[in-house]
Amino acid sequence: MIDSGETVLVVEDEAPMRKFLRAALSTHGFAVTEAATIAAAEHLATETRPAAILLDLGLPDGDGLVFLAHLRGWSTTPVIVLSARDREDDKVSALDAGADDYLTKPFSVGELLARIRVALRHARATVTTDEPVRAIGPIRIDLARHEVTVDAQDIHLTPIEFRLLCALARQPGRVLTHRQLLTEVWGPNAVEQTHYLRVHMAAMRRKVEKDPARPQWLLTEAGVGYRLRDA
Ligand code: CA
Repeated sequence: MIDSGETVLVVEDEAPMRKFLRAALSTHGFAVTEAATIAAAEHLATETRPAAILLDLGLPDGDGLVFLAHLRGWSTTPVIVLSARDREDDKVSALDAGADDYLTKPFSVGELLARIRVALRHARATVTTDEPVRAIGPIRIDLARHEVTVDAQDIHLTPIEFRLLCALARQPGRVLTHRQLLTEVWGPNAVEQTHYLRVHMAAMRRKVEKDPARPQWLLTEAGVGYRLRDA
């Protein structure tokens, strides 16, 4: 499927990984530029204005988070972090620092493309829409009336649950960290209280999910946060 022609900047120091990404992306219609260092990435980010950036964190001239911090000073280009499985804390720091998503190595081409599409779609929807009604799969949220239905059945959320659902629904498909959700729903003093999230998410799943033990919509990203599935 060739549908974009948009440029993706790949920031990765491992040549085999770069080769894999280049092949996957160019096959699917993306133009690809590559950087193996932060210095090269900063140059390419300003010169080529990529539509999205794939960012490895362990780079020879420093931490990819340094690049991300600089980038976020002037650009909202979506950034998807490529993270090693054993570096869970890195994912959280990256998301808190403004990354849009992450992929844990090894990942499939399908996963990669799905995440890029979500990131590009969010980037295109520049100003967050203020539509009063939001629909994600079977979930319909009336922001003005504070009403939620699932498969056209009214469900009764507490004010906290409603705010939590709205925070997730604003960016379906995107993972929000514990810190981001706690700040948004409870305020900056609550950023360490991840148990608030566990409790309220469990309660909300009992109302929203057909099988709360196997959620289809309110997804846990272990050690990181939560994601509302993108319908
Ligand atoms: Ca690396």
